Amino acid sequence: MSKNIFSVAIDGPSGAGKSTLAKAVAAKLDILYVDTGAIYRTIGCYVKEKGVHPRDNEAVIALLPEIHIEMRYAEDGLQHMILNGKDVTTEIRQNEISQYASDVSAIPEVRTFLLEMQRQFARENSVIMDGRDIGTVVLPDAEVKVFLTAPLAERARRRFVELEQRGTPRAYEDVLREMEQRDYNDSHRAAAPLRQAEDAVLLDTGELNFAESLAALLSIIRKKVGE
Ligand code: C5P
Repeated sequence: MSKNIFSVAIDGPSGAGKSTLAKAVAAKLDILYVDTGAIYRTIGCYVKEKGVHPRDNEAVIALLPEIHIEMRYAEDGLQHMILNGKDVTTEIRQNEISQYASDVSAIPEVRTFLLEMQRQFARENSVIMDGRDIGTVVLPDAEVKVFLTAPLAERARRRFVELEQRGTPRAYEDVLREMEQRDYNDSHRAAAPLRQAEDAVLLDTGELNFAESLAALLSIIRKKVGE
């Protein structure tokens, strides 16, 4: 890989495999994986802790000056989220935080609050960054842009299996319904809605297993950055 800093932007709906694949790519190419959903989840976590409704824009905005977020990378390369000095990496994965994150992420002031932090990270490190607006808003000049997707039923099935393996099983119908709701919220909001950047490569993992998806993604990246 060349010594130059480069960015890979991965956008797409939840359950498409973004984080699992991006983590594997980061390890393979020795670059940093930045999970931007975790940053929105961290805000969601604080909002919940304060007992504020995540759709009460005024109240959420009023909390922003109290929020200090840091990302730290452990020796294993895992991204830890630090909220006002406390490690909330595990807490932000609670199922109900997903909806908090989705709600607060629709508030433009929240997005602006987090924008520079994400950009600075990519200026200083070679990254593979995943989210909803990385190729369109956060890193419009990223060397590689991929829009990763899969059919809704397949994404819900994967999330269902993941929750089961984590020991927090949910009914498939509930997982499907919540995912559909989040898809709708994320792609219909006014602020930085989820959409494929014009110069992004579309990768549908619906029919691919993990190894095939990873090979396809690496091939797209290598073509663009010349490794
Ligand atoms: O990716 P993850 O499911 O952890 O993200 C949680 C929520 O954060 C998403 O549903 C989405 O609403 C929001 N998000 C966003 N922009 C990003 C990353 C996540 O709006 N770049």
